[in-house]
Amino acid sequence: MPKSLQSFFKPESVAIVGASREPGKVGYAILDSIIKGGYGGEIFPVNPKAEEVLGRRCYADLKAIGKTPELVVVVVPARFVSGVMEQCKAVGTRAVIVITAGFKEIGDDGQKLEDELLAAARAGGIRVIGPNCLGVMVPGSRLNASFGGDLPVKGGIGYISQSGALLAAILDMANASGIGFSKLVSIGNKADVGELDVISALGDDPDTRVIAGYLESIGDGNAFVREAERISQKKPILLMKSGGTDAGAAAASSHTGSLAGGETAYECVFERAGIIRCDSISTQFEYAQAFAEQPLPAGPRVAVITNAGGPGIMAADAVEREGLSFAQLSADTVARLSSKLPAAANVHNPIDVLGDAMSDRYEFALETVLADPGVDSVLVLLTPQAMTAGSETAEAVVRMNAASSEKPVLASFMGSAKVSRAVRILRDGGVPQYASPEAAVGALRALNDYVRWRARPRRVVKLYPVNRRKVERIIDRHLRRELREIGETESKEILEAYGFVTPKGSVATSPEQAVGIAEQLGYPVVMKIWSPDIIHKSDVGGVRVGLGSSREVRDAFDLMMYRIPKKKPDADILGVLVQEMCTGGQEVILGMNRDPRFGPLMMFGMGGILVEVLKDVSFYLAPLTADEAKQMLMSTRTYQMLTGVRGQEGVDIDALGEGLQRLSQLVTEFPQIKEMDINPYLVGPAGTTPVAVDARISVEKD
Ligand code: ADP
Ligand code: MG
Repeated sequence: MPKSLQSFFKPESVAIVGASREPGKVGYAILDSIIKGGYGGEIFPVNPKAEEVLGRRCYADLKAIGKTPELVVVVVPARFVSGVMEQCKAVGTRAVIVITAGFKEIGDDGQKLEDELLAAARAGGIRVIGPNCLGVMVPGSRLNASFGGDLPVKGGIGYISQSGALLAAILDMANASGIGFSKLVSIGNKADVGELDVISALGDDPDTRVIAGYLESIGDGNAFVREAERISQKKPILLMKSGGTDAGAAAASSHTGSLAGGETAYECVFERAGIIRCDSISTQFEYAQAFAEQPLPAGPRVAVITNAGGPGIMAADAVEREGLSFAQLSADTVARLSSKLPAAANVHNPIDVLGDAMSDRYEFALETVLADPGVDSVLVLLTPQAMTAGSETAEAVVRMNAASSEKPVLASFMGSAKVSRAVRILRDGGVPQYASPEAAVGALRALNDYVRWRARPRRVVKLYPVNRRKVERIIDRHLRRELREIGETESKEILEAYGFVTPKGSVATSPEQAVGIAEQLGYPVVMKIWSPDIIHKSDVGGVRVGLGSSREVRDAFDLMMYRIPKKKPDADILGVLVQEMCTGGQEVILGMNRDPRFGPLMMFGMGGILVEVLKDVSFYLAPLTADEAKQMLMSTRTYQMLTGVRGQEGVDIDALGEGLQRLSQLVTEFPQIKEMDINPYLVGPAGTTPVAVDARISVEKD
C-alpha cells in the first residue's frame, strides 16, 4: 500500500464519482469547487445518468474513462461505495476520498458498510481519506476537492480536522482574513488514513511550516507520541483536542488513579511530544500565523514600539504574565533613538513614538531596536489617533520585517474600521497582526515555549540494575489467583527488588508477638492494621505511630483488634504489622496510573493523607529521563518546601529524582502494573536514603 499521500495532494487527474447536475447537491458542489479552484489537471465527472455536468463530458463509470484517474472523489450513497472501490482497483487508482456519510457514525449498519469499504480498499492497495469527510484542499496545486468553501490562498499552515463542520468554519474565517494554507485535510471517520498519516505527511511536506489541527480521538497512542515528537523537532504542531481519555474514569483504588483526570494523559503526551495545545480556533490561528510567517526568536526578550502609553503598559503586563522578559535596550540604541525622536518620546522599552507619529518614526524605531543584540523579538502597537497614518505605517513595518529575517516582528494595530486597510497590508505582507497586545504576546510565548522544547536535552533514560525475576514471580502469582491488589508486604518486596528501601517489620497475631517484634526492632515503633480489605488504613484508625514501650504496643494491639472489626465488619483482619518508625524527612507521594492508550503516567506530589485535598501533583509520561524527573518535581509547589523554606533544611532532591526514575523503570518493565502509589515516600536531607513507608500496587493481565 502506498505510504505517501502525494496522490491526494498533487494528482494529475481527478474523477468525481457521483458528480451531479443539480446545484445544492454535494456531487455538484465538489465538481464546481474543483473547476472554480482552477485545478489544472484532467477532470472526469462520473455519473451514468448524465451526458455532461457543468459543461464537462460525463462518464458512465470509471472504466469508461479509458485512463487511470490518479485521485477519485466519491459522493455516491454509502451502500454503493465498496462497489466504487472495486472499480478503482480495476482501473488502478490508489487514492480515494470518500465524502459520503452514513458509515460508522450512524451505528452498527454503518460500521458494517465501513468494514466492507475498508476491506475493498485494502484488497486494491488503495488509500482512503474519509468516509464522512469534507475533502482535501491544496492551494499550491489549485486543488479544491471538497465542499468546504472557496480555496484559500497559499501559505505555510497545514491543517487537519476530524470535524468537517469545524473545518468549514475555520476556512470561512481564514478566507475572510487572508490566512494562507499549504494543505487542508478533513479526515472524517479515519477508516484508513488517520491523524498520524496526515501529520507525518505534513511533517515531510516542504510547503508546510506549521501543522495545526483539531482532533477528537487519537488511534495508536505510542506511535502518535513517537511520530509527533519526531516532527516537532522539525516544525511545530498546534492542536485543539476535545474530550479526554477514560484513564481516570475507572474506579481507582490508588491516589494516583483518582488524581489522574481524563485530560491528564493528553497533557502529558502533548508536553512530551512538544505539541502546543490551543484552547480555541482563534488562539490556534494566532499562534499558527506567528509560526508560519516569522522566524523563531533566539530568546524571550521582547521590545515594544507604541504610539500610546496604555497599550504599551498592557503589553508589558502581558510579557510579565506569560513569563517572557522585557528587553533592556543598549545605551547605543537609547542614544540613537533620542537623537531622532521628539524630546517627549520614551526611548526606553516600551518605546513610545507618541500620538502624532507618522510612519517614519515607526520605521526608524523599528530599524533601531531590530539592530539591538539585546532584543529577541519586536511587537509594534498602533492605535488610530487623529494624526495616525495607519496604512503607511503598516507598509513601513512590512518593509522592515522583510529586511530583518532573524527576529520575529508581530503587530497589533488596534481598533476596527480605521485600521482595516493597515491590517490587510500587514497580513498580506507576512506580519502577523493581532486584535490586542495580549494576543500578540500570547503568540510570542508560544514561539518561545517551542524554542525551549526544541532545545531540551537529548532524552536518555537511565536503566538501574534490578531484580526482575523476583517481581515477575510476585505478579504472576497474583494474576494466577486473580488477585488485583498486591498487599503492603509484597508491594515492598517489589520495591526492594527495584532498589527502594522500606521500613523493617513483620505481622503479629497476638499482643505478645507484637511486643516481641517491637523489642527486636527497637522503640519507637509503628503499628498498622493488617487486612487485604482495608486500603486506607488511617481512615479506620488502623495506624498508630510513635509507640515507645511494650505496654503501648500491647494496648495498641488490643484497641485495634477491638475497634476496627466494629467499623469494618466485613474485613478479613489478619493481624497487625509492627514496623520500625522512620523519623525526620518530608512525606511525598510517587505514583503511576496507566492510561489505556498512552501507557504509564508518572505522578509526583505532596504526600501523606492530604494528597487528595491539596492536589499539588504533577504528571509525566514514562519512561522518565533524569531531566524529566527533575521537571516533575519542580512543577509542584511542594518543591519549594523540599528545597528548604525559612531556614529549614531541604531534602535530597537527587535521591527523589532517582526514586521517580526507578519507579518509571518498574512500571515500564511490567505493563501488568495498572496503578500504584508509594505514599508516603519519606525523604530526608542530602546524603540520606529515602524510605518507601507505604505502598500499593494493582495488577491486571496485560
Ligand atoms: P494509610 O495510607 O493506609 O493510611 P500509611 O502506612 O501510609 O497508611 O500510614 C499513614 C501515615 O502514618 C503515613 O502517611 C505516615 O505519616 C505515618 N507512618 C506510617 N508508617 C510510618 C513509619 N514506619 N514511620 C513513620 N511514619 C509512619
Ligand atoms: Mg499511605
